Amino acid sequence: MIVSVDLGAHSYSIVVEAGALGQVGQRLRGLGVGRRAALLSDATIMRLHGAAVAGSLEGAGFTVTVIEVPEGESAKTLAVAEHCWDRLLAAGLDRSSTVLGLGGGAVGDLAGFVSATYMRGTHFVTLPTTVLAQVDASVGGKTAIDHPKAKNLIGAFHQPRLVIVDPGVVRTLSEREFRSGVAEIVKHGIVLERAYFDEVERDAAPLLDRRLDVLERIIGGSCRLKASVIERDPEEKSDLRFALNYGHTIGHALEAVTGYTRWTHGEAVALGIVAEAHLARRLGLADAATVAQQEGLLERLGLPVRASDLDPDAVLTAITHDKKARDGRVPFVLAPRLGDFRVVYDVPPAEVRASLRDLAG
Ligand code: NAD
Repeated sequence: MIVSVDLGAHSYSIVVEAGALGQVGQRLRGLGVGRRAALLSDATIMRLHGAAVAGSLEGAGFTVTVIEVPEGESAKTLAVAEHCWDRLLAAGLDRSSTVLGLGGGAVGDLAGFVSATYMRGTHFVTLPTTVLAQVDASVGGKTAIDHPKAKNLIGAFHQPRLVIVDPGVVRTLSEREFRSGVAEIVKHGIVLERAYFDEVERDAAPLLDRRLDVLERIIGGSCRLKASVIERDPEEKSDLRFALNYGHTIGHALEAVTGYTRWTHGEAVALGIVAEAHLARRLGLADAATVAQQEGLLERLGLPVRASDLDPDAVLTAITHDKKARDGRVPFVLAPRLGDFRVVYDVPPAEVRASLRDLAG
């Protein structure tokens, strides 16, 4: 499947196809870019999937500099970015060259940032290898490194020239990492398209078994939905892009109050979805059946839907620090029905507290 992201002069394609990593070289050549390329990845991913990419690039006539970066969030630092800039310079990359990021969202964010800033911008290609990166982080052009005081504080919008999603690579993810990414898939269905939610519900079992044809269809469907949002709001300027934040206002707060150790990001998002579904019901926006359907699907997909021992006051305080707050008002994305969303400001704290109690069960 090929999803086109129509952004005028910055349009690009997302190729979602089993084995697509082996076609990176040919596809990049088709874009008419310079012959030098840098491939950023971490040691684990390089060992698992690097040879296919490097071989394909070299086979298509590219000179490839492989830059190994630390795993996960520790890749997103100024020191690592500086190391990458040094390597690009030493290898003679210029503005016609391409920086490719092969990995999860962390490698993708770093590679995009390095590409956006080196010589004021090189071509950028992202090759996402986690479910989260394939359905979420790689589409949208947000690039970033972390500041010691806040995640993703330093960055730029820099659209890729090409996104290549090889759904088969997620088979090497741990069960927990895999399921975590699936939370973002469910989120897309809930706020963006009822038919897609139904499809995920119907195919929950083969999805969990990581059947290749189902991965390709469901991951491709999520890319299509996210692309449709990006096309209408490329730089996060309207309420529309907030839709992608469903489950994240409470989810981020849950991660923060538990020191980012108790749950993975996707697990916290699943819990955030459940709490925000109950919040919509409490505010009279959604009925109990809509809440039950969301909870039911998350549970079938092996994601947590209840959390005990929560301190509601600490969660509420963390919510007020939400990055999306405007003039101190925190926007909540709520789903009145499956496939629809509404952004609600000024939600009474008592209702948020009550929805956190619902989460405790
Ligand atoms: P990650 O990038 O931190 O990777 C997690 C781990 O999985 C790493 O150790 C990596 O080596 C390993 N891994 C990756 N692919 C693998 C594979 N196929 N097989 C085996 N192991 C593999 O995790 P993530 O969840 O993909 O990304 C999280 C990051 O994404 C955060 O930094 C977050 O800020 C960012 N993010 C960015 C956006 C955006 O729009 N730019 C959106 C969401 C999240």
